[in-house]
Amino acid sequence: MKKPGVLLPLLCEHLFKKPFTLLYPRQQWPLPRNYRGMIVHDNEACVGCGTCFRVCPALAIEMVEDPEKRPLGKDRVRKNKPLFHLDRCMRCAQCEESCPFNAIHLRGGVGLVGYVRSKMRVFS
Ligand code: SF4
Ligand code: SF4
Repeated sequence: MKKPGVLLPLLCEHLFKKPFTLLYPRQQWPLPRNYRGMIVHDNEACVGCGTCFRVCPALAIEMVEDPEKRPLGKDRVRKNKPLFHLDRCMRCAQCEESCPFNAIHLRGGVGLVGYVRSKMRVFS
């Protein structure tokens, strides 16, 4: 066991150094470029094709009825659209890469915290 006196100079040295930690969430480190954050869904670009739902390995995407029934042209309407369960998502980006209409982007923040899982959803 080290003697307590050995640590004293180290303690004094660190008293006058800048802290290494930040006061999260008020202060945050800048995210690296291409960091995969939370899902951002572009509702206008989405046609409800369900490709994202089929490729998701974590079963984090559910296709639910579109309450707007958004028109897609030529008498077609969007019947379903994706609901993303962020608490199940592992940020693999399969959905982003597979979406034929570029409607999914993993560029949201990192702060996924909460007490209720039902609030960790993206439905635009
Ligand atoms: S793959 Fe893209 S266009 Fe198709 S349902 Fe998913 S988000 Fe919408
Ligand atoms: S990033 Fe991966 S795990 Fe998350 S919703 Fe998309 S496909 Fe599923």
